[in-house]
Amino acid sequence: MNKKLKIAIIGSGPAGLACALECERLGVNADVFERDKSVGWIWPSVSVQLNIFESKMKDIRKYMAKSYGLDIKPLFECNHFVLKSPNARAEVSGNLGYFLARGKYVDSLENQLLRELQQTAMHYNRPADYKELSKKYDAVVIATGKETVAKELGVWEQKDLVNIYGGLALGDFTPGSSTIYFNTDYSGTGYARVTPINNTQAVVKIYNFESSISEIDSNFTHFLATEGLEHLEFLYHIKPPPFSVGKVTRFQKDNIYLTGRAAGLTERLTGIGSVGALISGIFAARAIIKGKEYEAMVKPLQDHIENISAFRDRMKSLTNKDFDRIITLIDTPGVKQTIYNSGFNLTDIFGSVIKKVNKLISAE
Ligand SMILES: Cc1cc2nc3c(=O)[nH]c(=O)nc-3n(C[C@H](O)[C@H](O)[C@H](O)COP(=O)(O)OP(=O)(O)OC[C@H]3O[C@@H](n4cnc5c(N)ncnc54)[C@H](O)[C@@H]3O)c2cc1C
Repeated sequence: MNKKLKIAIIGSGPAGLACALECERLGVNADVFERDKSVGWIWPSVSVQLNIFESKMKDIRKYMAKSYGLDIKPLFECNHFVLKSPNARAEVSGNLGYFLARGKYVDSLENQLLRELQQTAMHYNRPADYKELSKKYDAVVIATGKETVAKELGVWEQKDLVNIYGGLALGDFTPGSSTIYFNTDYSGTGYARVTPINNTQAVVKIYNFESSISEIDSNFTHFLATEGLEHLEFLYHIKPPPFSVGKVTRFQKDNIYLTGRAAGLTERLTGIGSVGALISGIFAARAIIKGKEYEAMVKPLQDHIENISAFRDRMKSLTNKDFDRIITLIDTPGVKQTIYNSGFNLTDIFGSVIKKVNKLISAE
């Protein structure tokens, strides 16, 4: 019976490809529609997957391999983070997570997933209309990485608009180590990040949550000058269109299933979304083929993402002085020790850091 089930997947990012792979494993060959000529974003990127955000998993790579049969080879293990604010600096080391190549790189997350597929029909250069497909297919999986369909279905709750600007820089970098900068002067309540791809190249990006797209170029220049990075030579600059972050009130409507970022499954603290995309794609396949309740399967994933995202609201009122205090606290041995040990609860650690900062502020 499964062989006759017709499933269309729109989008070949992590959510769409993981869904297609799980469909194959369950005996159904889906049709994947991708508007581009190949898988992967056009802009080069390095995704970080942080074990501290997934305390239940302990080690994301091992957990994803064991629980979902997805053994994704990382670019590097993430073993070192530097956190910087105007007057403070903290270093955190340990088994912190993984860096994954994204986009058109041969070993990007998308290309690794694609190579696993044996039977799935990939239709490239095919921007697809979910309304049309929903008439022809038993199920349509929305994995477009955009909120458009959720908006049309009336299930999207907008939270923020994020502007990203950056580029691929040439320089001297340490793979496996990333630096994150907090400074309201150039990143508002967002942040900037330097993430190496190898010893000589790094993705350097600024994430602004409230600036307009015209300001972000000058904010980026300000960031480079403030952090002593103006010597970096850029192979090219990256300016993706601003993207919406939010959550959905429902994941399924009739035979339409929302997954990945199209379902708001990207946390809004740092913008990490690849884990949620992979798992929701797998859940959609299982729900459709095994007749399971998709909403119930994916809701805990959303709750977890909302839990992490809650800290964004707290960040909105932070000043540079607050960032200095938080980073100074993170650098204290007790807190650091907890971060080394990946099995802790993120809510607890952020909660206690913010509580201490609030105490310090009210004592003034
Ligand atoms: C600019 C940007 C930077 C990000 N950086 C990071 C990061 O560093 N780390 C991280 O973990 N997460 C990052 N994210 C979050 C990101 O959402 C997830 O990592 C992950 O890519 C979500 O996977 P997805 O499959 O839902 O969507 P995507 O990866 O966006 O894939 C969607 C696919 O659908 C295709 N598509 C769209 N519309 C159509 C259509 N109508 N018809 C056919 N195909 C279509 C697109 O071409 C694309 O291939 C970033 C997001 C954005 C927008």
